[in-house]
Amino acid sequence: MPALEIHDLRKVYAGGVEALKGISLDVQPGDFFALLGPNGAGKSTLIGIVSSLVNATSGSVKVFGTDISTDREAAMRQLGLVPQEVNFNFFEKPFDILCNYAGFYGIPRAEARRRAEQELRRAQLWEKAHATSRTLSGGMKRRLMIARAMMTQPQLLILDEPTAGVDIEIRRGMWRTLKEVNAAGTTVILTTHYLEEAESLCRNLAIIDGGCIIENGPMKALLAKLDVEGFLLDIEGELPASLPHVEGVDLRAADRFTLDLEMPRSMNLNSVFASLDGAGIRVRSMRTKTNRLEELFVRLTGNKEHAA
Ligand code: ADP
Repeated sequence: MPALEIHDLRKVYAGGVEALKGISLDVQPGDFFALLGPNGAGKSTLIGIVSSLVNATSGSVKVFGTDISTDREAAMRQLGLVPQEVNFNFFEKPFDILCNYAGFYGIPRAEARRRAEQELRRAQLWEKAHATSRTLSGGMKRRLMIARAMMTQPQLLILDEPTAGVDIEIRRGMWRTLKEVNAAGTTVILTTHYLEEAESLCRNLAIIDGGCIIENGPMKALLAKLDVEGFLLDIEGELPASLPHVEGVDLRAADRFTLDLEMPRSMNLNSVFASLDGAGIRVRSMRTKTNRLEELFVRLTGNKEHAA
């Protein structure tokens, strides 16, 4: 049974903004899953619906098999949410923040104290258990948010842009805590617009853009795709009936006069041209092909490295 099962989810906000245009997605138990996309892609809307803060226009969401629209409470019991903003009382102490949160969920005091110690240790905050929260660093405050969400022992932990606008040291500290949470068996889903974050944490991901999922699969497969570049080559005369084999290169006829070529970025185009020449194919001109994925990554990272 998937940890999260989303089927044909749509959201149209008042005013007609189509934030989600029919999203389907499964996340398996134990996964560390990233929902990656630029600002305005629909990530927060999706997380909001899954955590019952936003109503969907249509479609279904199941958390460990329980439909959130028919049995909201049971579904929410499985789920922990870490919001983007730090929202605990700065005058309370971390240990008390966690115990009071547990009390709100009806967890007996002795059990709450046991869990609070476990979570504070995992978040490397045990030394600060009885300090005023106001004195915690930015990174500690964010780790305390994770510890608090874990007090109900959710099977699925969801984080909405947990590291937006925080520096790399703070992000790394949070990643370590999240990795430990995941290693102990909790499924983790986070939204981010940092490619680097998804890369260092997540096994699987979905990329969302303009309210649609444009990629979904293992992180490794996605990185391999990004490592490929494509060209369209106009050739002299017509292409031969059978194209030559060039090691590591995917060659196709786009039409009788144009070759469609994809190859690893690390490969030298001149050696490809030499092989083509050997097969009697002379290139007159070439154009770069860009794909939607590359364009998206340029927008996400603001990094022109992947640009054509
Ligand atoms: P992301 O989290 O990826 O930045 P959002 O889910 O916040 O994206 O937003 C998706 C789209 O929905 C955007 O066009 C945004 O302006 C719009 N939107 C988000 N929340 C509301 C709202 N409460 N009312 C109207 N439009 C909204």
